[in-house]
Amino acid sequence: MGSVADLELAGVRKAFADTVALDGVTLDIAEGEFFTLVGPSGCGKTTTLRTIAGLESPTEGTVRFGGADVAGVPTEERDVGIVFQNYALFPHMSVRENVAYGLKFADPPDGQSVDERVTDLLDLVDLSGMGDREPDQLSGGQQQRVALARALAPAPDVLLLDEPMSALDARLRETLRRQVKRIQTELGVTTVYVTHDQAEALAISDRLAVMSDGAVEQVGTPREVYERPATEFVASFVGENNLFRGEVVGRDGDGTAVSVDGTEFRIDDGSGDRPGGANDRLTFCVRPEDLRVGADANRFEVAVDTAEFLGETTRYYAEWGDRTVVFRTPDAHDGDALSLGFDPGDARVL
Ligand code: ATP
Repeated sequence: MGSVADLELAGVRKAFADTVALDGVTLDIAEGEFFTLVGPSGCGKTTTLRTIAGLESPTEGTVRFGGADVAGVPTEERDVGIVFQNYALFPHMSVRENVAYGLKFADPPDGQSVDERVTDLLDLVDLSGMGDREPDQLSGGQQQRVALARALAPAPDVLLLDEPMSALDARLRETLRRQVKRIQTELGVTTVYVTHDQAEALAISDRLAVMSDGAVEQVGTPREVYERPATEFVASFVGENNLFRGEVVGRDGDGTAVSVDGTEFRIDDGSGDRPGGANDRLTFCVRPEDLRVGADANRFEVAVDTAEFLGETTRYYAEWGDRTVVFRTPDAHDGDALSLGFDPGDARVL
């Protein structure tokens, strides 16, 4: 394969007997990008990754590496490094031998010897000095770094990571996430990362694709996806959100008046999107941090149900009529009746 490492999936469909795992997935992943596939269990993330790797072949559609169709090109000729959830290290081999195994089917780059390459990689993943240990003498995070070093050994064009941190505890996950990101940035290797953890996806990615039911709901930078969710699914899956369903009752300037069960809200999401006319149904969302206690605009009265102290903020669940809203604020609120409101510009039309 060439060294141009942009990836393209065009209309990829994958069916297993009567299960449609992927239903027309189209993605453009740029060279050097850290790209994440995120979505709930069963949405097709792993199948997408395995299709890129050549471990599955699409029922329909095309996968291209550097513009070239890779149909029929076996995994070992695709120049991909793969790290799976369960480390898959060889238990009776030392760390050095495990990393060197990554060079079994490919020579080290730049005319290096296997020994030199392994030393460099252990240095890269901060495991110098642990080369003679066996995997069971390492922590989970260290084992996963060995797996990463092994995948990177032949200097692949593309690095594929399938839930590599899901077996680790929360603190270790955050540490490893920073290390993976640093290594990826240092090497500039095109990376596709699979996770069901939306917070991890926001933290680590240059761009992400949010998937649901075998389809891509939205592709964007973490900020775009968080601030401008394209669909109700994305609005609810990525971060927390409050969804309001109502009907349009009027317009003025750039704003839209929406009635939600008799309460009128004015929203102006600045997107220039002026959905429908009077009486049209409309759904908008407001993030928990944008619902403010005592705000003047878009006031509504709620009854606080539960409070969760999170450290820098407290998350409150409150009843508004027969629905639950969630809001977050650094301030303590003791009473159970509160007036909430939000800026028209903080509402996002879905
Ligand atoms: P998870 O986070 O649980 O790993 P995922 O998003 O990675 O989920 P996939 O593993 O890609 O999802 O699976 C997508 C769908 O395809 C699921 O309904 C799954 O049951 C089905 N599927 C995946 N692999 C196979 C297979 N080999 N045979 C039959 N069905 C499969």
